[in-house]
Amino acid sequence: MAHPKAERTLVVIKPDGLQRTLVGEIIGRYERLGLKLIGMKLMVPTASHIEKHYNLDPNWKRIVGEKSIEAYQKKGLKPPSMDPLKLGDKVIDSLKKYMTSGPVVAMVWQGAHVVKIIRKVTGGTEPLTSDIGTIRGDFVHDSYQMADTDSRAVRNLIHASGSVDEANNEIKHWFKKEELIGYRLIAEQILYDVNIDGLLE
Ligand code: GDP
Ligand code: MG
Repeated sequence: MAHPKAERTLVVIKPDGLQRTLVGEIIGRYERLGLKLIGMKLMVPTASHIEKHYNLDPNWKRIVGEKSIEAYQKKGLKPPSMDPLKLGDKVIDSLKKYMTSGPVVAMVWQGAHVVKIIRKVTGGTEPLTSDIGTIRGDFVHDSYQMADTDSRAVRNLIHASGSVDEANNEIKHWFKKEELIGYRLIAEQILYDVNIDGLLE
């Protein structure tokens, strides 16, 4: 089994993240955790690339559709459809518009528990309810209610893989093998080495 420090995750700074000039801030938040950046590119994704991205997990569309139906019902509103797959398709359509509207920064980060750590620092999906101190909680205030009223995707600055399996599939979808760089980060010695030696003169 690979050492936990070899875990990787995909992060995409969405078009609103660039427009809000938050690229440096977002990268800084991940850097200061001691995580290692091993791939990065600026690109405008195509609609088919985004469609494939959100269909990599065959269950994602159903789950997001179910969540959306529940959200309508909680607000006492009638969902536009009771079929989770139909609502999931609507979310994917709005994501295609959102994610292809301008440049994004795609990145791969590496480190122990990187998937969970990056999700924690990025914050919950809905900025209105994501915690203060997280990137989404600190820099945006969008809500499901506003996004659904306007039939658009929730604008939350960042995509970050939700699980290790999701990360592995997504990294392959966004990056060629040769675009990822294996290298030693000096800080890894203090973060991971079993024996800390060679510090004292
Ligand atoms: P994430 O992993 O936190 O990004 O959340 P999901 O994987 O559940 O959803 C992917 C993206 O779809 C989110 O980041 C939002 O931009 C958007 N989204 C998710 N759920 C909804 C919803 O119920 N309504 C709308 N309008 N957008 C949604
Ligand atoms: Mg997700």
